[in-house]
This record gives sequence, C-alpha cells and structure tokens, in this order.
Amino acid sequence: MQRIILHIDFDSFFASCEQQFDSSLRDKPIGVTATNGRTCIIAASREAKKLGIKSPTRTWEARQICPSLITVPAHFEKYWEITQKFLNICKDYSPYVELFSLDEVFIDLSSTENLFGGVYKVIETIKRRINNEIGEYITVSVGLSYNKLLAKLASGLNKPNASPPASLLAGEVGRGFVQISPQDVEEIYSKAKLTNFCGIGERVKVRLNKIGIDTPLQLRSAPLDVLISEFKDVEGHFLKELGLAQDSREVIPYYLSTETKSVGRSYCLPQNEYDQRLILQNIFELCEEIGIKLRRLDKKARTVGLYLGGNQTYHGRKTITDHIDSGRDIYGLCKTLYDEWGLAKLSNEEGMVRQISVWTGNLEDSSNLTLSLFDATNKGSKIQKVMDKINDRFGDHTIRNGFVHNSPSLKTVPNGYMADRFERQKLVQSF
Ligand SMILES: [Mg+2]
Repeated sequence: MQRIILHIDFDSFFASCEQQFDSSLRDKPIGVTATNGRTCIIAASREAKKLGIKSPTRTWEARQICPSLITVPAHFEKYWEITQKFLNICKDYSPYVELFSLDEVFIDLSSTENLFGGVYKVIETIKRRINNEIGEYITVSVGLSYNKLLAKLASGLNKPNASPPASLLAGEVGRGFVQISPQDVEEIYSKAKLTNFCGIGERVKVRLNKIGIDTPLQLRSAPLDVLISEFKDVEGHFLKELGLAQDSREVIPYYLSTETKSVGRSYCLPQNEYDQRLILQNIFELCEEIGIKLRRLDKKARTVGLYLGGNQTYHGRKTITDHIDSGRDIYGLCKTLYDEWGLAKLSNEEGMVRQISVWTGNLEDSSNLTLSLFDATNKGSKIQKVMDKINDRFGDHTIRNGFVHNSPSLKTVPNGYMADRFERQKLVQSF
C-alpha cells in the first residue's frame, strides 16, 4: 500500500510569529535578532527574503541590502507556544505526527485519512485551523507524497508567498501545496536542484559535482559504487536511494522521538572578538549551559566538540573514556582543543572569533553508569548539585564559576532552529 505522508512547514516562522503578535510589523521587511547584542539576524520575514536577505546574517550586512529593515529581538517562549498549538492541531488527524524541527512536522495519514474525509480535506482543515487558532499571518507550505523524502521536497517547492516557476509544479497544486505522485517523480527530478533535497547541503553538493553529478537526474543514474567510493557506505546508499526517490523511513510519533543524541549550543558574539579571555569565558559559559542541560536530562557525555568561526574556522572533537556532565569538565576538553589549535599565539586578525559552537555527544543515561567507589569527582559533584539547586530556583547563571566573575553578562541565547534536541524534548514533555 502506498503511504500518505504530509510535510507541513511554517513559512518564515520566527518572523511571521512576530508579525502575528504585532500587526504594525506586517508587510514589512523584518529581521529577528538573537536577543543578545542584536547583531545577528537569525530569521528574516518573507518581505525581507524577497529583497534578498538571507538568514543567518549580520545585521549590518542586511541593512546594506535593505536600509529600512526593522529588527525585532527573538521571543523563543512565544514560538514554543505556537509550536505546541500546531502539534495539538496535527495530532487530531493522526497518531503519527513527527516534530522534525520547531516549525516542521511530518504526518502519516495512511491509516486515518478516511476518518476525516480524505487527505485534501485534512490539509484544508489543518490550514483553516492554523488560521483560526494560531493566526492569520502564519502560513504554511504543505507537501504530500508517498514518502518523507518527497513530501519534504514537495513542501519546499511551493511557498505560498513566493511563486515558483509553474513548470516545477506537478500534480495537485494549490496555494502553498504540492503533491508528488510516482508519475511526477521524473519531471520533478528534472527540474529540481540537488540542494532542494533534505540531506544534500552545499558541502555534499560540491562533492557530488566533483564526481560529475550536477542534477538530481544524474544522481538517479549514478552507479552505487561510484557514490560509495566518494561518500562511504552509509551515505552512498542514502544518496542512491535519494536519487531513486526511495525512502522507507517511518514517521516517528513525537512522543517517541525524545531520545537525545547530542546536546549543544551555538552562540554568535555581539561583535568580532579578539580578547582571548573573553572568548574563553564565552566558551566556558556555553559549556556550563550544556552541563546544566545534560544534568536535567540525566545524561552524561563522552565526546565534546568545539567550533570557532571568525576570519578562520576551527573545529574538532575529543572523546574520552569517562562520562562527564559538568560544565567545567566539558570546558576542559574545549580548552585542550583551543590550545592544540595554537590560538593563544595567533595575531589579532587570525585569532578573531565571531561564532562559537560547543556540543556533546556519545550520551549515556547517568543511571546506567556505574559509580566509582573512589570517585574523585564526588566532592565536585556535591558542589555542582548545590549550584544546580540554586540555579533551578533562582534562574540559570545565578551562581557562576569564578572564571566568569567580573566578565560582562554572557547570558547566552539559542540562535538557530532547535539548536539542539533539548528544546524538542522539553516541548514534547509538555504534552
Ligand atoms: Mg519553515
């Protein structure tokens, strides 16, 4: 039986939410900024996008393109509320609703569409309910197909507020709606770009180009062994299936998709930073936040990764045998990487940092880990517990490590969609 999969994606989510809350912002180019420093635009409104403003970008760069750009600080709590309302609507039509990101869901309607008058009726009802229950300025793009790959591709082909070339559309086409049926695949593949597909980013595209694959149709006919020799086994098979429009992945209900595989944080500094102590303090702060999150999730990590972006980029990871969950330990590994990269010796320009990402992986439930009888970190973990209690009660960063003492307030904010899975889990648990 052919499956019936929907992919629903909010258009310009953060910015549309702001325009929904404040009608004076509607029909204007808006840039939503990270709340700290306001120098990075993390989301652009559809009006701003039409003028060529991409996100993320720096505010000053966006203003060069559009001097009348209005910037608005992000209100993540409000976006959460909207995502919750959205999920609440979707789950009325199927138990198989997967939260793919803060503003995207997959719904498998295969077993339930008949209960609600068929798939088109469901789409229409969901759109109407979003309009009535969330707001008239919030719009969505809907893709319908027989697997997740094509449903997501479809929703990206017809944004309701930007008309795609008519030739790109096949099957049932409406405002913000594209359906891809098996007989449409050939035509869609002949018109789409490689980067229209979820799973092909710029880097993968460049590597595909290198082996002579410039279009989805060429990917379709590419021999598997050629793909494997460039991309290794797993990714090679994935790309081959993508070329064949095959995708057997299930829609995983949101209440099951809570497993946390990594916890991380990214931060865009308010200005180009040359001061090494400040850079390290910011890294420390991100590590502390990750530590807090790991402990709240009752997880410990064995791998720590650090990314620094500025005039040059640096990235690396460290994996150790012990599992850790304290900001201090996570920072220790970051500092090792930082030292290995020799940043302390670099001249100002080379050592400039603008973006910082820290992440942890190889997570394990703390309760599964055996405690050492002679746990040297025991005293540290007792202090940590007391600090966590205080911070839980009075807010994060009420009590902070001495290393960040006397530093300007470094309170970080997420600056991307679902910067990590912690938010997703928090959201899911709120149901
Ligand atoms: Mg979206």
